Amino acid sequence: MLSRKAEDYLEAILRIAKMKGYARIKDIALALGVTPSSVVEMVKRLNDGGFVEYRKYDGVTLTPKGEEIGKAVWGRHTTIRSFLEIIKVPEDIANKDACIIEHELHAKTIEQVKNLVNFVKSAPDYPQWLEHFEIFCRTGVHPCEEEKRKERVHRLSS
Ligand code: MN
Repeated sequence: MLSRKAEDYLEAILRIAKMKGYARIKDIALALGVTPSSVVEMVKRLNDGGFVEYRKYDGVTLTPKGEEIGKAVWGRHTTIRSFLEIIKVPEDIANKDACIIEHELHAKTIEQVKNLVNFVKSAPDYPQWLEHFEIFCRTGVHPCEEEKRKERVHRLSS
């Protein structure tokens, strides 16, 4: 089992390498908000474990084993981020928290979160329950409840 931190590195290297073909130490440091020297230290460890290949002047690339883990972590990240965005967590917070949650959840939980995300996204129209949820977040009242309450008041007064 890799540490959370190691998983974060593989995920970051995957994302950077996707854009640039390789990842430099300073790219990784920037992406993870850590110092270049701590990147070098971790990259050496990942290199020894067979997860990345590190050549001083060519930067860091993932081995197939490292890529598999990087992709899995990134997949969990996008699933959780989408879920948090559906429940109206602001984008930057959703992105940060996805990076925390992604390491801990059971595969079954991730699968169900992903099912929910895909379910919401594949709805032909914007889901009404989600519209109601937005109103609920603002007012603390479920619009259907409010509707019923108005009907009751109306019945009593007529
Ligand atoms: Mn992440």
